[in-house]
Order: sequence, then C-alpha cells, then structure tokens
Amino acid sequence: NHDIERLKNLLGTHNDFPKKGIVFKDLFPIFQDPVAVETLISNVVHHINSTYEEKIDVVVGLDARGFLLGPLVALRLGAAFVPVRKQGKLPGECVSAVYEKEYGQDVFEMQKDAVKPNARVIIIDDLIATGGSAGAAGELVKKCGATTVEYVFVMELGFLNGTQKLDAPTYSLIQL
Ligand code: IMP
Repeated sequence: NHDIERLKNLLGTHNDFPKKGIVFKDLFPIFQDPVAVETLISNVVHHINSTYEEKIDVVVGLDARGFLLGPLVALRLGAAFVPVRKQGKLPGECVSAVYEKEYGQDVFEMQKDAVKPNARVIIIDDLIATGGSAGAAGELVKKCGATTVEYVFVMELGFLNGTQKLDAPTYSLIQL
C-alpha cells in the first residue's frame, strides 16, 4: 500500500537511543507533514469504521505519544478521549495497573469515572514492543467494567510478539 509506504519512509531511526543497543523509531517526523498526519488518521479511522459496526465510545491514549494520536482519532469517531498516565500525574480517583519494563516495573493510571461500565474502547499508542504497556492499559479498561474492542498502533515490532499478551484484536499500520 502506497500510503503506508510513504508513512514508513517518514519515520526517523535513531541508533543507541535512549540507550546503547536500542534502535528507536521516531513518529514525530510524520507530524511535520500535515498531509501525512491526514493519511495516518484517515487510515486508522477507516479501519475502525469498516471493521466494527457498533459505536466506539472511548479512545484511550497511552502516555505520551498516544496523547497525540488519540484525540485526532476520537474526534473523527465522535468518541471521548481518555488518557492513561504514569502514576501520580492524574487527579481524582484512579484505577492503576503495574507492568514490567526492561528493568523493573512501572504503574499506569486512568481516572476511574472517565470510562463507564460497558463502554466500547479503542486503546491507541505509537508503538508496540513487548506489549507490557498496552496490556496494562487493557487492565485499566477492564477495571472500569468496560470492553477493549481493539488495540491500535502505528508501529509494531513483530519479532517481540507483544500482541500475544493482549486480550483483544490488534491493528498496526506499519510492521517493523
Ligand atoms: P512495550 O510496553 O514494551 O510494548 O513498549 C511500548 C512503549 O514503549 C510505547 O509507549 C512506546 O511509545 C515506547 N517505545 C518502545 N520502543 C520505542 C521506539 O522505538 N520508538 C518509540 N517508542 C517506543
């Protein structure tokens, strides 16, 4: 697909970032090009609208690049946007979930009242690696009594098999 190839070509690649041995894929060059952003968002929204008949109520975006993608997708779906943040950043009553990082653990939180029981939710982030962070977001949705309809990513590091950790279908625009 020509659109996806163009988006893929815009991605930045940075060796040894944030530390030695890691090859970091950078989404931000896409945001320098409004036509590319339109292509990206339209592709995701078209996928969701053509796959799921029932309305999506909430788009949950992961800290931090999910905050850029989520609201754009939510607006077009006529859905709410709800952020998942690192522990201690969100006011009010929150649900929380622990997940494994390369070294040690981290905690994600989401405001409890933001996602209603039985809501149909899409979880979005820029990239899935091990699936730890997306999985924790899925747990938060479950703790609110809502349903994750799909996990959506711009990029997927397929060789890490992160999608196997997730409790719903996944959609990734670009396989790396
Ligand atoms: P996971 O929890 O192992 O799936 O890692 C995914 C999380 O780490 C996402 O929030 C990504 O934004 C971030 N991440 C890991 N590797 C990269 C990368 O190469 N580029 C951008 N983000 C990355």
